[in-house]
Amino acid sequence: MKRRLCQLNCLSKVNLIECIDMRSIRDIPNLKDKNVLLRADFDIPISDKGQIEEVFRVKKQKETLDYLVEHGAHVVMIAHISDESVGRSFASLVPQFHILLGHEIVFIKTIEEMGDHLENYSGPALLDNIRQNTGEENNDEEFSKQLAQGFDYYINNAFAVCHRNHASVSGVAKQLPSYAGFLVQSEVSNLGKAMDIAGKGKILIMGGAKASTKIPVIKNFLDKADSILLGGVIANDIMKARGENVDDSVVDNNASELLTGLDLRSPKLVMPEDYKKHDNKFLDIGAKTISNFTEKIKNSNMIIWNGPMGMFEDDRFEEGTRAVAEAIIESDAIKIIGGGDTISALDRFGMLARFESLVGSGKVFISTGGGAMLAFLAGEEMPGLKVLGFYE
Ligand code: ADP
Ligand code: MG
Repeated sequence: MKRRLCQLNCLSKVNLIECIDMRSIRDIPNLKDKNVLLRADFDIPISDKGQIEEVFRVKKQKETLDYLVEHGAHVVMIAHISDESVGRSFASLVPQFHILLGHEIVFIKTIEEMGDHLENYSGPALLDNIRQNTGEENNDEEFSKQLAQGFDYYINNAFAVCHRNHASVSGVAKQLPSYAGFLVQSEVSNLGKAMDIAGKGKILIMGGAKASTKIPVIKNFLDKADSILLGGVIANDIMKARGENVDDSVVDNNASELLTGLDLRSPKLVMPEDYKKHDNKFLDIGAKTISNFTEKIKNSNMIIWNGPMGMFEDDRFEEGTRAVAEAIIESDAIKIIGGGDTISALDRFGMLARFESLVGSGKVFISTGGGAMLAFLAGEEMPGLKVLGFYE
C-alpha cells in the first residue's frame, strides 16, 4: 500500500486530520520488541546554571515516546543541540530529560556504540548530538545506512528540522519504513489550517528580522489573509523598499531583492503608523500602531503570529510586542504562534504559560518550528516531509 501523509494542495479540500491519520505511527501493526529510531527535537537553550530553558520543546516529545514505549518498542532518540555552554552535547542534560520525559534515558555517546546498545538494552536511549557526525549535515548516504543499522522503523518527530536535508531527517527515512510522529502530525495539521484558503478574518502578524525567511511567507499569505500586520525590521525593509524614510533603522540588505514581485502598496499590508525612536532608529512600534493592531486583532478569527514588533530584549522597546501578545491572548481567535524569539519574548513577559494553558482548548497552537514553520507557511517543499510522502 502506498503510504501518504497528505497532499499539500489538498489541504483546503479534505479533512486534514483524516488525511494525516493515513500515515500515523498508530498504523504500525506491531511495535513489540521492534527497534525504533526516533528523530527528536532537543535543540534547546541552556541557562548559565545548566538548566534546560525551553522545557516546552522537550515535553512535546513525550506523547510519541510514551506511545512507542507503551507498545513495547525499543527506542533510540537522535537529535542535535547547538548550545555551546554544554559543549553541544546532551551528556550533562540526561537527568533533566528523565524528569521532563518521565522515562529513564540511557545515554549513547557515539554511533559506534549503537549496535551494542540495541543488543543489550531495551529502554529508551538518546544518542549524543547527531551533528557531531560529519555525515549528518552532508546527508551522506553511508552515514544514513549506518544510522539505520539494526532498526525496524524510523519516526520523525522533529518538525523544526523538516526543512533540512540532513541524514537524520531525510537520508535515514529512505533506509527504513518511516512515519511521522505525533508532533510532526500536529504541526502539519495546525499549520495546514493557517495555510487553508482564507476564511474571513484571518490575519498574519509578522515582525522580527531575517527577511529571507519572512518575505516568502508574506508573499504566500497575500491572498490567504485579510491583512498582514507588520512590525520589526521586516516593516523597515518594506518601508525602505517603498522609498520611505527609515533613518538609521536596522534593515536587511537582501530585502529589496527578496521583495521583488510583492505588491508593496497592497492595502492588505498594514504598516506601522508610528514608532518608538532611539538613536535615529525605529526600535518599536508606537502607541497609534499598537491601538490599530489591537483593534484588528480583536476583529479577527484566526491569527498567525511570528516575530517581535521591536527590539524587545531591551525593556524600553518591548511594549509593542507585549501589547500585541496581550491583544492576541485576549482575543477569541484561533492563534498559531511560532518563532524562537517570539516565544522567548512571551517567556520574558511571563506570558508563555498563559498561552500554553490555552493549548488544550484547541484555540492556541505553539509551533516548535522557527525556520521550519516559516518554510511551511511559505509553501516550500520540505525534505523531511517529502520523504514521508507528504507531497505525493
Ligand atoms: P523569530 O525568532 O521570532 O522568528 P526573528 O529572529 O526574526 O524572530 O527576529 C527577532 C529579532 O529581531 C530580535 O532579536 C529583535 O530584537 C529584533 N528586532 C525586532 N524589531 C527590531 C527593530 N525595529 N530594530 C532592531 N531589531 C529588531
Ligand atoms: Mg529568531
